[in-house]
Amino acid sequence: AISIQKMNKWYGAFHVLRDIDLTVFRGERIVICGPSGSGKSTLIRCINALEEHQRGTITVDGTLLSSDLKNIDRIRSEVGMVFQHFNLFPHLTILENCTLAPIWVRKTPKKEAVETAMHFLAKVKIPEQANKYPGQLSGGQQQRVAIARSLCMKPRIMLFDEPTSALDPEMIKEVLDTMIELAEEGMTMLCVTHEMGFAQAVANRVIFMDQGQIVEQNEPREFFNNPKSDRTKLFLSQIL
Ligand code: ATP
Ligand code: MG
Repeated sequence: AISIQKMNKWYGAFHVLRDIDLTVFRGERIVICGPSGSGKSTLIRCINALEEHQRGTITVDGTLLSSDLKNIDRIRSEVGMVFQHFNLFPHLTILENCTLAPIWVRKTPKKEAVETAMHFLAKVKIPEQANKYPGQLSGGQQQRVAIARSLCMKPRIMLFDEPTSALDPEMIKEVLDTMIELAEEGMTMLCVTHEMGFAQAVANRVIFMDQGQIVEQNEPREFFNNPKSDRTKLFLSQIL
């Protein structure tokens, strides 16, 4: 589904991603971890062109990511993204947050957009909040709205960038449960997270990044029980 080859990115003179090679197959659930500043967010953001890369290629479902806006649009329409901060529109209701892009970007008829939104709000278990405003919801509820809002665009791939790291502990589980359900339904997922329990339970592959490189990747059991590189060992000893 995603193929990244020899991808490099600089922020000005700073070489932030180095020779990233990564193939994500349909239905895979990949967790990306690594120290702060290692380039995890940048990598995720390059995949849907929120950041530009300078060298190498990124291909999503056969579409090459280039400066061609048509290709960027096509890729963004297949890829949903959920951030640490939920970025809901505060002046729109939960339902309107979920129908805005389908109606205005996808030209979905309003009635159908509302039905789809209610379907996904039910899926994330907050249909009764549809007419409230984001400020009236808890952090965990807002993040579930953000996930539902993404799903309303019918993406084939979901990117998550630390979706639980801004949440109070008691709200983390409800968001992880939503993500687990998505994974069980076969969604292709790429998740930056430090929730190693989630990685062990859900991921089929864990990737460790450091200093802009993919240092090590393995299936979770091997990754946690038998890390190969010293940098991975050090990282795991600090977070587990
Ligand atoms: P964290 O775990 O803290 O979220 P990360 O692995 O997601 O870290 P990135 O946000 O991808 O790391 O940042 C990688 C490096 O690039 C960091 O050194 C950061 O300071 C730098 N960086 C990030 N965004 C920019 C930017 N817009 N301009 C310049 N440098 C940036
Ligand atoms: Mg980050």
